[in-house]
Amino acid sequence: ESQLNPNYSFENFLEGDSNRLARSAGLAVAAKPGGTSFNPLLIFGGVGLGKTHLAHAIGVDIKDKYPEKTVLYISAEKFTQQYIDAVKKNNRNDFIHFYQIIDVLIIDDVQFLSGKTGTQDVFFHIFNHLHQNGKQVILTSDKAPVDMQDIEQRLLSRFKWGLSAELQSPDFETRVSILKNKLYRDGVEMPDDIVEYVAKNIKTNVRELEGAIISLIAQSSFNKKEITIDLARVIVEKFVKNTKREVSIDYIQKVVSDYFQMDIDTLQSKTRKRHIVQARQLAMFFAKKFTKASLASIGSQIGKRDHATVLHACKTVDNLTSTDKQFRKYVEDITKKLSV
Ligand code: ADP
Ligand code: MG
Repeated sequence: ESQLNPNYSFENFLEGDSNRLARSAGLAVAAKPGGTSFNPLLIFGGVGLGKTHLAHAIGVDIKDKYPEKTVLYISAEKFTQQYIDAVKKNNRNDFIHFYQIIDVLIIDDVQFLSGKTGTQDVFFHIFNHLHQNGKQVILTSDKAPVDMQDIEQRLLSRFKWGLSAELQSPDFETRVSILKNKLYRDGVEMPDDIVEYVAKNIKTNVRELEGAIISLIAQSSFNKKEITIDLARVIVEKFVKNTKREVSIDYIQKVVSDYFQMDIDTLQSKTRKRHIVQARQLAMFFAKKFTKASLASIGSQIGKRDHATVLHACKTVDNLTSTDKQFRKYVEDITKKLSV
């Protein structure tokens, strides 16, 4: 009913430098929901770094300590869907009322609200009501509030009221402990050198780290093979290859349009709106930088433009990168996304 997953507990959320602040803040909130200055508590970080796990852990712990409190976990996507349904059925007030009587509201992936002004509006009112009544709000996001786009200023400023805590990629030691803990819980034995080999090679995403171990176990049990370092090498290679997806022009357009939260059709469209033009120019720039395609071929794949347009785009990006700080950040962020 509260949608909490008991396996996502604090106990199972291994501590390391990469998550210490967020984890401790989570524990503090769980001890005194609504009674700390961490309200809202916003947990942010990249994909597969434990945001959902930690958000559940806080809820699970609160439910444990305060069984009488109503704790609700919901993804921002589902929240949005519910709101749209409520409006359709003329139940907007019921929807608001339902959320205003919750003691602890956990909303996962709030970046999903970007551009959705109606949902942002209703969330703003719910948030204010909960906050004024000393109720706890916990949010997760893939970005820090300063980097969020298309979220109303008044909501962003609320997000900054409490504490924003980042989850970073875990270091080697933490990755090893995460794997060992998982193996222990699953009752599987694996030699240390193999666990360490996996932890050494899969660095940026805990979900993939676990995925590699799961395939390793599956491979060895289906094929009745011993878990050896050679088998580990084959599997890790597959994972690393999968993550190092080949950089194609399609992929670049997808990454750039996702980054700016538009779809590829918009990115390719004829519009002269500045932010769309810039997104398109960035896609062209990265296509030039990361593929071997000719200017003409890049142009024809990114909205049927000619080679001169692509050349102009590359020069514009170069110029803006050296003169405009915000723009430089775009280039850096997208470069990171493309080089994972
Ligand atoms: P996110 O929501 O940030 O994309 P998740 O919370 O879904 O990431 O985490 C991905 C997987 O990694 C989950 O199975 C989660 O249990 C695991 N995980 C992440 N961080 C840790 C950690 N510190 N200790 C143990 N497991 C972790
Ligand atoms: Mg998540």
